[in-house]
Amino acid sequence: MNKEMLNLGSNRSIIRELFEFSKQRKAEIGEDNVYDFSLGNPSVKPNPELNKALIKIINDGNDTYTHGYTSAPGDNNTRKKIVDDLNNRFNTSYDINNIYMTCGAAASLCIALRALVESKNDEVLALAPYFTEYKVFAEGAGATFKVVKPDMESFGINFSELEKEINKNTKAIIVNSPNNPSGVVYSEESLKKLAELLRNKEVLYNHPIYIICDEPYREIVFDGIKIAHIPNLYDDTIVCYSYSKSLSLPGERIGYVLVPNKAADSKNLFLACLGAGRAYGYVCAPSLMQHAIELCADKTSDMNEYKKNRDLIYNGLTEIGYECVKPEGAFYLFMKALEPDAYQFMEKAKKHNIIVVPSDNFGVKGYVRLAYCVSSKTIINSMKAFKDLFNEYK
Ligand code: PLP
Repeated sequence: MNKEMLNLGSNRSIIRELFEFSKQRKAEIGEDNVYDFSLGNPSVKPNPELNKALIKIINDGNDTYTHGYTSAPGDNNTRKKIVDDLNNRFNTSYDINNIYMTCGAAASLCIALRALVESKNDEVLALAPYFTEYKVFAEGAGATFKVVKPDMESFGINFSELEKEINKNTKAIIVNSPNNPSGVVYSEESLKKLAELLRNKEVLYNHPIYIICDEPYREIVFDGIKIAHIPNLYDDTIVCYSYSKSLSLPGERIGYVLVPNKAADSKNLFLACLGAGRAYGYVCAPSLMQHAIELCADKTSDMNEYKKNRDLIYNGLTEIGYECVKPEGAFYLFMKALEPDAYQFMEKAKKHNIIVVPSDNFGVKGYVRLAYCVSSKTIINSMKAFKDLFNEYK
């Protein structure tokens, strides 16, 4: 059998391992005594309109409409509602032929990468800290995966490191903002600088270098921050979107790939996305969910709850003395470990029943990620344990 697949299937991710540990610990000492910040499962309820939409579709639609296959790129009405919403918000002029409905951001990324990558010579860059699965997806598509070190002060884009990594083989760069795991939102100014750099490199190497914009957290931003729409800054962009986080339905697997007309060779790129979907065996995205998105394309869950949690956890931890990157979006906080080895720190935190993920998994050393998509009560109750952990290092 395929050794790479065997290896991927046999090695459980650290996040899964921590999840199992947490389950076992909760059974031993009770749910409320374990402070599990390991998983990025949305804690905020879906928008009530979403459940209403699902019931309406089941009650009103015939079975073929509700549960049957849609066309491969997705239901036309759903795609129309999505582009109307995008055009309203970002002053764009997309039409349904720019959208390919998928089973969430993971599928969107795999499809976009498979559509672009021709051989192992093609390099795909990710900006650290990055979502661990990018390596799996890029290598799965046949590319060589490379990591660009971040600016360790701001966890923004480190342009001198990026410049070192781009060469004639660079096919694409994955940009994820708001970022998992740091919670950082790349400023419009830095994205414009990125666009300028890539345009110069495209001229130098005489081929497109695509931005694959992974934005499942697009709607989760705080303090009035405005998210830049990257295709408005850089033509050769493919957007990978998902409703997992914005509508709190990660288990329902629904999202899309957007290929703007301005992207180089966009018609063929869109067809290559359809081809990649075929090759991976995605027949169509779940129909029921597509129809629900038709009715809720402009809705989100209540993001104020994440803001409340962001304030509670950031203020609580920094008051104790921890160094944290202030999250501007998503629902993750990046905290400096109290010793250079983040794994050792994670082990010590476990003794206080605090579960955090070491940053080595995200391409950076010396930090841990806290997913604060938990109840506010868990954050408040965890502070004593964090204080005890801090005091252990004094
Ligand atoms: N990209 C990032 C940055 C994520 O954090 C996640 C999930 O947590 C995904 C992609 C995959 O999302 P989906 O559930 O839509 O496949």
